[in-house]
Amino acid sequence: MRVVLMGPPGAGKGTQAAVVSGKLAVPHISTGDIFRANVSEGTELGRTAKRYMDAGDYVPDEVTNAMVRDRLAAPDASAGFLLDGYPRTTAQVGELDDMLAARGTSLDHVVELTVDVDEVVARLLARAQEQGRSDDDEQVVRRRLELYAEQTAPLTDSYAARGLLVRIDGMGSIDSVTDRILSALGG
Ligand code: AMP
Repeated sequence: MRVVLMGPPGAGKGTQAAVVSGKLAVPHISTGDIFRANVSEGTELGRTAKRYMDAGDYVPDEVTNAMVRDRLAAPDASAGFLLDGYPRTTAQVGELDDMLAARGTSLDHVVELTVDVDEVVARLLARAQEQGRSDDDEQVVRRRLELYAEQTAPLTDSYAARGLLVRIDGMGSIDSVTDRILSALGG
């Protein structure tokens, strides 16, 4: 199964993606996690990504697309994946379609987690306290939410037009949201 999980920062995407990918037995591919791993390892990709991440901006499409292209070419992604945090721009939507079409495959579902914005800001600021993420201070959080609303939320329209989109209420307990996602995916 090839699934994209979308939703604003703080919607609980990462948590849900980890659980749902386990249930579906497909790899959880999070572009944010790959960038953070590169930042910790001090790679060139990490140094580039950090400048954008710390400002709450998107890493440029060509950098992100090349990274996803490599990751999806790995053998464990051939039978399916759960993409978390990608695509986020119109150009990324096109790239992903091309990557999959080149293998004769396509997406099965796009899940969008919907949440209350005030609740999201509260969650992100709590996470900043717990994990010390440098991209979670209030100004950066607001910038990331703005970018999501401007650039990423509109992408759901094109997925809806293709009949791929399922909107899931992301509020409530972790387990109840997981159940909603799995039942929407037919599991
Ligand atoms: P996330 O953990 O998904 O919230 O991602 C953390 C940060 O990584 C984002 O705020 C962006 O700076 C960067 N990032 C992750 N995924 C993408 C993407 N698909 N396109 C551009 N930047 C991304």
